[in-house]
Amino acid sequence: MSEIVLKTLEEIELMRESALIVSKTLGMLASEIKPGVSTLKLDGLAETFLRDHKAEPGFLGLYDFPNTLCMSPNSQVVHGIPSKEPLKEGDIISIDCGALKNGFYGDHAYTFAVGEIDSTVEKLLKVTKTSLYKGIDKFREGNRIGDMAYAIQHYCEKEGYGVVRELVGHGLGKIMHEGPEVPNYGKRGQGKKFQEGMVLAIEPMINGGTHRIKQLKDGWTILTADGKASAHFEHDVALIDGKPELLSTFQYIYEALGIKSDEEIPFRKEPLII
Ligand code: MG
Ligand code: MG
Repeated sequence: MSEIVLKTLEEIELMRESALIVSKTLGMLASEIKPGVSTLKLDGLAETFLRDHKAEPGFLGLYDFPNTLCMSPNSQVVHGIPSKEPLKEGDIISIDCGALKNGFYGDHAYTFAVGEIDSTVEKLLKVTKTSLYKGIDKFREGNRIGDMAYAIQHYCEKEGYGVVRELVGHGLGKIMHEGPEVPNYGKRGQGKKFQEGMVLAIEPMINGGTHRIKQLKDGWTILTADGKASAHFEHDVALIDGKPELLSTFQYIYEALGIKSDEEIPFRKEPLII
């Protein structure tokens, strides 16, 4: 991972545009996810949508990844490759999307339910998303990476879930994966101090059972070692005036799905108008 690059307020505003184009893409996909649709079809829709909005797909060709979206259903954790296999009622699908706009990357992810899902899986999604905000809340001047990592790990393990160790969040900027590494497990008071102008992609990857993972022979797809479901939520967040400021938003998704949520309000200086 490359070094940490602190951003100016002007650069952060450009990065907000990069994050929001990903948010809009996920919002567009939210209306298209239903039983019978393939992840490859959704991938094509996302690529067209990004290019129509003067953005480049951020993952396509990055480390030779073959598609626009990472599409990880059910027991897949992250880095799943879109396929012609149709989604089924009761599946979950983690969609991770990157975009390059104005020379800066946006990178965020949401785990969607396909139709009605089992209540145990629904709880996994809820806990994983809540853990993301618990992590974001620690992204404050004076805190360290370990404070954020501990908050995410402690909350998820208390619920009996496994926190993936091998994959981490990261700094974000003109490079998709900048320093620092942002693990979702760790000890309070340890690791690098947060600094004004840092922009992080914070992304808990939480498994319904063991934290252990394996990889498919395709060299990409990561899945849970025990076959249980896994969830992934990711936001892009800047440290401004000592506090976390969300650059990405799930509000386009909520708008599409008819969900009301005030979860982002504590992490935004000004209300978001979508
Ligand atoms: Mg991502
Ligand atoms: Mg990321």
